[in-house]
Amino acid sequence: MARIETPRRVRGTQDIFGEEQRRFAHVLDTFERVRRLYCFQRVDLPVFEATEVFARSIGETTDVVSKEMYTFPDRGGDSLTLRPEFTAGIARAFLTEGWQQYAPLKLSTSGAVFRYERPQKGRYRQFHQIDAEILGAPEPAADVELLVMADQVLRELGIADGVTLQLNTLGDAETREAWRAGLVAHFEAHRGELSEDSLTRLDKNPMRILDSKDPRDRPIADAAPDIDAYLTHEARAFFDAVTAGLDAAGVAWTRNARLVRGLDYYRHTAFEFVTDRLGAQGTVLAGGRYDGLVESLGGAPTAGVGWAAGVERLSMLLEEPRVERPDVSIVAIGTRAEHAGVKIAAELRSGNTSCHMAYRGNMKRRLEIASKVEAAFAVIIGDDELDRNVAKVKNLRSGEQDEVQLFRLIDELWARLGERDFENFADWGKGRISFVGNGPVAE
Ligand code: ATP
Ligand code: MG
Repeated sequence: MARIETPRRVRGTQDIFGEEQRRFAHVLDTFERVRRLYCFQRVDLPVFEATEVFARSIGETTDVVSKEMYTFPDRGGDSLTLRPEFTAGIARAFLTEGWQQYAPLKLSTSGAVFRYERPQKGRYRQFHQIDAEILGAPEPAADVELLVMADQVLRELGIADGVTLQLNTLGDAETREAWRAGLVAHFEAHRGELSEDSLTRLDKNPMRILDSKDPRDRPIADAAPDIDAYLTHEARAFFDAVTAGLDAAGVAWTRNARLVRGLDYYRHTAFEFVTDRLGAQGTVLAGGRYDGLVESLGGAPTAGVGWAAGVERLSMLLEEPRVERPDVSIVAIGTRAEHAGVKIAAELRSGNTSCHMAYRGNMKRRLEIASKVEAAFAVIIGDDELDRNVAKVKNLRSGEQDEVQLFRLIDELWARLGERDFENFADWGKGRISFVGNGPVAE
């Protein structure tokens, strides 16, 4: 018989499972909790958009648009692109849905984004971001709130210690014009030493050269003039207001005058939270102010500021998150007992108590499984127990076992589970899932 070949996972994609999944979920849960604390509304938007949504806003000459997008014609011939980031789609929705009426609007989202890049540790073709944006707020207070929020997300994940906030200003339009001219003059003087990519950038978007990773460009980029000499009074005042706000909130930052972002739409504030624990993929969270973005999509001038963080990179920095253990495992032997077990499990679960029940095996085997999933209690029932209207309840930590009458079994389990916290059970998860180690326990 011909062997059927197993399909491969597509390069740069991931099947997130086991411990990896627990890390991933912990990042998303933490973000969800923090975004509520900051009163950001959740939005969920399409995974693909008309290609122009990204091309016009992010900038044709950026790496993302020129090399990294998943763009394809659909069956109707329209050019669509899988979102490489969230901000452009949010700005598009702001316009198409008439969300101007809600401005200033604080939004958050999370999910998969797609970039055709060379896969490596911390770099995938389908990866995931958490994202926070404020539209319609030109005030520096919006930048500050977003940065404080980002800092809190990192602190609650327990990874803030190794991570520094690098902050820069890209100035206003007038500042950028003047700075751009200064940069062009500087780079023109070194034309012969620049990489081919940077020569193209020099004509189209000289600021991009500052961001170059090519070793030929680095010394020239490092010697380029800082924006500071070109800052208008307003741009300087804006930056000072942002840094004063961060200082007031107790968020540490360092100035990185070389920091420009990989997308074209930024104005004023630009920032990255960077760690040295992830090698070359050290940027875990990044963003800035994008006051020109909504206009580039044909809308009225609208202020915007936001950030996105890579869920995979945050996950890699986490301490191992604890395994979720079930509260109860039901060990039922025989058809009658199994039916009773199903009923008990349903009642426990309706009462917010996690419950595991094996599908097969004799009593010894099922008890082994109950221990393996590290349930707090096993409830043991067979014909003999049912005839006497009792169940055996075994504390799987201490090994103690007694009989409880069925009519008060649920209340009794809740009472005993309630005592966990006083009995050194603090490390027991408020389990919902009976997964241990790297996967579901074999039954
Ligand atoms: P990098 O310089 O690492 O390519 P970037 O500037 O392209 O990052 P952004 O567009 O700012 O990244 O995206 C925000 C965050 O998304 C990054 O800080 C990073 O944590 C994450 N990220 C970006 N690209 C990838 C990728 N290919 N795989 C996994 N995470 C990514
Ligand atoms: Mg990139």
